[in-house]
Amino acid sequence: MFTFDCHVHFGQYNQIYYQPSWVIKALHKNGVRRAWVSSTTACIEPRSFDEAQYLSRHIDEEVKEALAQASKLKMSLVPLYWAVPERYCDPNKVDGFLYSGFKIHPKVGEWGGIGGEKLFFGVCTRASQRHYPILIHTGVDAVDSPARFEKYFADFPDVMFVLAHCRNIGEVIRLFKKYKNLLGDTAFCPIEGYKEICRAGFESRMLWGTDFPITHWCSRESDKLNLTVLSANYKVTLDSFKLNF
Ligand SMILES: [Zn+2]
Repeated sequence: MFTFDCHVHFGQYNQIYYQPSWVIKALHKNGVRRAWVSSTTACIEPRSFDEAQYLSRHIDEEVKEALAQASKLKMSLVPLYWAVPERYCDPNKVDGFLYSGFKIHPKVGEWGGIGGEKLFFGVCTRASQRHYPILIHTGVDAVDSPARFEKYFADFPDVMFVLAHCRNIGEVIRLFKKYKNLLGDTAFCPIEGYKEICRAGFESRMLWGTDFPITHWCSRESDKLNLTVLSANYKVTLDSFKLNF
């Protein structure tokens, strides 16, 4: 289960910059050989169209760096295009050679309006045509509740949607029962919640995901940043999951 991590980031996250090659090396040191990756640089709100263009190119460069490092280490990466309304809203980006899936965070960018709906529809359509996964951040608020996207789960039965964090558990179990095209990940998913999902018979729907290196950002050691600290941080997440389950 732990050689594939479906939820990894690099790039700028608040005040910290996570160098893509370091993140990949830290994964490799912990036995991960395959990962879905996306750049949190996409969370920066650009002040102009030009800045959005600049950031978009920068994100592409980060992905290239991660891919180059992964290829040296013989790891397989699936870079996800982080779609954000009015910023990074070109689902056709996956037609190039860089991206093979999508990441959606309902709290990053304005998903409520027509632009958001249109982009989500475009992402699902492209994902369906190319058999690419969509990783969706979920939370306990109405705005990031997985129920918000239910109509897309129904309308795109051939698309694999992964509910990151599995929030909230009751809602996720309800949706798992209804839709076969839904998976969840373990990233920041409370261990009790994970067990509840297993008890409901959906253990096989759960992917190992960490949200690394956000785990480092949340840790007491976030003021230290080097490869040793990053690798150790991944190991803590891994060990605590193994210990509790
Ligand atoms: Zn994440």
